[in-house]
Amino acid sequence: MSEQQNFDVVVIGAGPGGYVAAIRAAQLGLKTACIDAALGKDGKPALGGTCLRVGCIPSKALLDSSRQFHNLTHMFADHGISAEKPKMDVGVMVGRKDKIVNQFTGGITMLFKANKVTPFHGFGTLHAGNVVKVKQHDGSEVELKAANVIIAAGSDSIELPFAKFDGDKIVDNVGALDFTEVPKRLGVIGAGVIGLELGSVWKRLGSEVTILEALPGFLAAADADISKVAAREFKKQGLDIKLGAKVSKAEIKKDGVHLTYTDAKGEQSLVVDKLLVAVGRRAATKGLLADGTGVKVNERGQIEVDEHCHTGVDGVWAVGDCVRGPMLAHKASEEGIAVAELIAGLPGHVNLDTVPWVIYTEPEIAWVGKTEEQCKSEGIPYKTGSFPFAANGRAVAMNEPAGLVKVIAHAETDRVLGVHLCGPNVSELVHSGVITMEFKGAADDLARICFAHPALSEVVHEAAMAVDKRAIHKAN
Ligand code: FAD
Ligand code: NAD
Repeated sequence: MSEQQNFDVVVIGAGPGGYVAAIRAAQLGLKTACIDAALGKDGKPALGGTCLRVGCIPSKALLDSSRQFHNLTHMFADHGISAEKPKMDVGVMVGRKDKIVNQFTGGITMLFKANKVTPFHGFGTLHAGNVVKVKQHDGSEVELKAANVIIAAGSDSIELPFAKFDGDKIVDNVGALDFTEVPKRLGVIGAGVIGLELGSVWKRLGSEVTILEALPGFLAAADADISKVAAREFKKQGLDIKLGAKVSKAEIKKDGVHLTYTDAKGEQSLVVDKLLVAVGRRAATKGLLADGTGVKVNERGQIEVDEHCHTGVDGVWAVGDCVRGPMLAHKASEEGIAVAELIAGLPGHVNLDTVPWVIYTEPEIAWVGKTEEQCKSEGIPYKTGSFPFAANGRAVAMNEPAGLVKVIAHAETDRVLGVHLCGPNVSELVHSGVITMEFKGAADDLARICFAHPALSEVVHEAAMAVDKRAIHKAN
């Protein structure tokens, strides 16, 4: 056993929560270490967490490649562009994705060097007294002690007992980002964010994709008007989404995975070549906490924290996917920054009410704030304004007229309560809603700002004007 090394801050996990917390702590003059257990595809340590290795970045790389292919095969003809027998080389596509992942995971190593964050590659366990023991990949152990420990252990895929991951036929996101060829038939359990994004990737490349969703409603977390439009567009694309489908069996046989599920019509069966299970993620706390730390884990497996990400144990904080709140990279990073600043004696806070959501399908889906359904159930008086992309010159010129923007404002104060979008580039447009809400703005504030023409963001402008029934380019 090596002697104890002392730091001001030790971070467990180098995902977007942990690596950002470590960099910010180091920027603030704190002697900081960051521990991460993950290895890349090449077997070498890879920083960046789920997001950089097997989440946000690689999924967006494949979404972009498959979108280019889909546009070439389905959209370019309208522009007068044709190509003979376009082909997709899945190996090249996955190789491009791996290159991007390596660029970004390697980038974190460089940022750690530049900011003097000391990395440790191995598995960290928190012990009482803010001591973290790290089992390194070479088998050695180091012991770190710090005034403050930030736990940013992230999350793992939930496995279904009857559909265990085998890394080949039944996979989670990790496997579905690395298929070596386009599966002829792809089954997906769960019509959530991963199911829709990765289902879209393989559908665009030619898979027959069937998504089995246990709940009777589609995308319940989104505003109902947005879910309706998105469901219509996905149906047009040929994504077969079966709602109220409860899967009970998944057997691997020679000719594929045989699924049994029950829906409103009774027991059904389906055979697929690959099965992606995407039914949510669970906080990664296994082996993380030794006895006696005092850190509490709730019934959902999350580390319990207060609104400042403090665990209640002196000097122990937790951020990102392993605590309450949405499992999103930007939420994890903002919490990491806030905690580093609180440790340094600065004010740090994350407003969970203005964390934006984006689903990178085609059309994209995005929102911030309350849905109309939430306003109703919470008894908040509200008014809405919406505007379709079909009436926006830029969207039509781009041949992407599907979707709408809906602004929800308080009926009495006009304060913006939520902005809900489905359409082209709404992953960017949602931020005008986030900024308005952060500045406690009103729909009228958005309506009176001058937006460039022709621009997709004019749809947000017109939706804000529609709240007061004064949109210009539609009947109110
Ligand atoms: P993680 O990124 O999970 O990082 C935790 C790190 O800690 C990991 O590297 C892990 O190996 C390490 N670790 C855990 N325990 C220990 C330990 N005891 N010792 C040492 N190391 C440990 N979010 C978005 O906002 N936008 C997206 O587009 C998006 N796309 C996604 C696509 C997919 C397919 C998936 C799966 C997720 C996606 N997410 C997206 C979610 C996003 O990846 C997570 O919310 C984010 O990574 C959480 O960050 P984190 O730092 O809390 O945890
Ligand atoms: P999810 O919570 O988004 O969706 C899971 C879906 O599976 C839900 O619709 C749920 O009703 C359904 N489900 C659960 N159990 C089921 C069962 N037994 N049979 C059929 N359906 C079942 O989870 P996910 O898609 O696994 O993604 C995990 C998290 O990762 C997301 O919640 C999100 O926070 C994050 N993520 C974000 C992005 C993004 O921001 N663009 C992309 C991917 C993942």
